[in-house]
Amino acid sequence: MAGDWVLGIESTAHTFSFGLVDANGKARPSSSDTLRPTQGGIHPREAADHHVEFSSALLKNILEDNDLQSSDIGAIAYSQGPGMGACLRTGAAAARSISTHLNIPLIGVNHCVAHIEIGREQCGCDDPVLLYVSGGNTQVIARLDGRYRVLGETLDIGIGNMLDKFARNHGIPFPGGPVIEKRALSWLESNPNPSLDGLELPYAVHGMDLAFSGLMSAANKLVREGKPFEAVCWSLQEHAFAACIEVAERALAHTGKTEVLLGGGVACNQRLRDMSTIMCEEREASSHCPPRMYCIDNGTMIARLGWLEIKHGRSTSLGQSGIDQEMRTDQTPVSWP
Ligand code: AMP
Ligand code: MG
Repeated sequence: MAGDWVLGIESTAHTFSFGLVDANGKARPSSSDTLRPTQGGIHPREAADHHVEFSSALLKNILEDNDLQSSDIGAIAYSQGPGMGACLRTGAAAARSISTHLNIPLIGVNHCVAHIEIGREQCGCDDPVLLYVSGGNTQVIARLDGRYRVLGETLDIGIGNMLDKFARNHGIPFPGGPVIEKRALSWLESNPNPSLDGLELPYAVHGMDLAFSGLMSAANKLVREGKPFEAVCWSLQEHAFAACIEVAERALAHTGKTEVLLGGGVACNQRLRDMSTIMCEEREASSHCPPRMYCIDNGTMIARLGWLEIKHGRSTSLGQSGIDQEMRTDQTPVSWP
């Protein structure tokens, strides 16, 4: 007899990860490995090869770390989209074979919705506006009429991708976001009262939408003109994060909701977390952010969403288990409370 743990597989981009939730949907830390190219960006084929190479060792780790046998697993969830095709296919293939081998239900889930659900589970917030800031995605999302609706999003590249590309232009390998955060902090340490004079960048809010590529070009130009790199890192964060927080604030105003939840890898950034807290305090709302291991891509969030979907009667047949690179956040019916 199969057990009642749900195993989740994340493979949308640079990270391959297994995660678990127990019979009550409680999260357990993931077992993950991330491809970090020494030069250039993430190549989907290379990332897919990386995922295949690491999958069996990671599966062994997560079972051992939690003292489980394969017979304790009662269902297998995987990211069905959105993401890079070659990467998604490795996770889907692994999930199909585990499902067939163990004779347990398969459930393909929406990666973006998984970021929301792990945040709700970890932070105990109920009905938040999600600011989802990751490598490939930047969206402001809220639940309305049985779906998570995208109220605003980037019109060009994801905010994390922008930070990574800017960093790469200046010799910093992937992931660049955490290094930019450190450089911005050291600018603040040497300039406790910093000024944006001479460091202005285009402020790219278009209604409820955002854009980042112009911001990146302008930041590159400031460095070329001789502005200190650390100062530009600081200014880049201030502009990009303020734009996201402004759209999240407007989403609170339009929807009447009173919670903001941060998710995605860029939500690891302390300055973004602080800006969200300040904005929420000013509006008598609350700001929530899951632990960093659940902000970055992780298998646990996939397991959590799989658990919710299975509890509410959904599973995926082999025939429907194909990946969907372009899966939209509002494509997934939300049938759970
Ligand atoms: P994800 O796509 O959700 O896995 O997140 C990966 C992205 O998060 C990459 O673009 C990273 O540069 C970015 N990231 C991770 N940590 C930080 C940080 N502390 N500050 C800004 N960006 C970050
Ligand atoms: Mg993600």
